[in-house]
Amino acid sequence: MFSVLKAQEGVHVFSGCRSLLRIKRSAVEHNVREIHRFSGKKIIAVIKSDAYGMGVRYVAPILRNLDPVDSFAVACAEEGVLLREMGVKREIIILGGVLPEEMEAVKEFRLTPVVSDPEHMKVIGGEDIKFHVKFDTGMGRLGFIGELVKDPRVVGVMSHLSTPADREFSLKQIEEFRRIVEAYRGKALKIHIESSAGVVYKVPFTTHVRIGLALYGEKSLKDYPIELEPAVSISARVISVKDVPAGFPISYGRTHITKKKTRIAVVAFGYADGLMKSLSNRGYLLFEGRKLPILGNITMDMTIVEVGDLKVKPGDWVCVVNESRTFGDLAREAGTIPYEIMCNISSRVKREVI
Ligand SMILES: *Cc1c(COP(=O)(O)O)cnc(C)c1O
Repeated sequence: MFSVLKAQEGVHVFSGCRSLLRIKRSAVEHNVREIHRFSGKKIIAVIKSDAYGMGVRYVAPILRNLDPVDSFAVACAEEGVLLREMGVKREIIILGGVLPEEMEAVKEFRLTPVVSDPEHMKVIGGEDIKFHVKFDTGMGRLGFIGELVKDPRVVGVMSHLSTPADREFSLKQIEEFRRIVEAYRGKALKIHIESSAGVVYKVPFTTHVRIGLALYGEKSLKDYPIELEPAVSISARVISVKDVPAGFPISYGRTHITKKKTRIAVVAFGYADGLMKSLSNRGYLLFEGRKLPILGNITMDMTIVEVGDLKVKPGDWVCVVNESRTFGDLAREAGTIPYEIMCNISSRVKREVI
């Protein structure tokens, strides 16, 4: 039988699902509160790219009721429309500029583009829409350099730090941004440059912080001054457990050969679910807090782990990520950044808000 369990916020979890991503509401709320307390500023919740792969349909309903969350930011108009269709009433900032084909949606759904190119101004033309202006103070991506956009429809001025871990360079960017903001003095604008890592600079002249990663309790700097609570866990089910003899090859390419008789488990989570193949033969999964080393190559839908003498059986759940092994930890092991891993968690992995 294939029953459907109805969880909060219209989240449907199939009892037969093989992998599950859980978002802990109280942890996200805690992180928002702590960031607000530390910065003393309102929060622009950055939930682009399906809320960093966590699922915007699950994350936005948690955030939209929180007082410090003043605005949302997404990458493109399409992501903004989805938020409006979910009933989000607050400002929705489109970080990635505005293309001609997006103007209809911008108008109809009252989205707020960020203008970062003269072409964006042309696209907006004489339309009655509010927008933010972005300045490039050292990111080398979007934003005006040495050119001001003065327009009565401007409601925000922003920039972006390229290297928050580099204090000297970041302070230079902030100083450059301060000079730009001076030119807009006298208007009540939203002023923002700090991202999750950038909040450490406590920039005195900004009104908002733009927070993505920290919402999930992931630390974006080694010595992060805010006590965040990891909010996401991912677990997957064991499909099969068996003993294999010494000298037996494991998985495609036979990159692991057992040294002794070994008990292995096959877990329903592979690179198609978001477990990077680079963790083959070096990563691990967790069972009741114990590490299960990954043996051989990770495959599309399955990963093989060594279970030793642990009592693991088909149907059991093993953890990929939890409060003690975060996306950041996994990223270090895989030689990448937590953002990339999060964005690559497949939609096949069921989501649930707890
Ligand atoms: C993604 C993004 C952010 C959020 O960064 P985090 O490190 O996740 O907090 C902020 N500003 C801009 C322009 C972004 O693209």
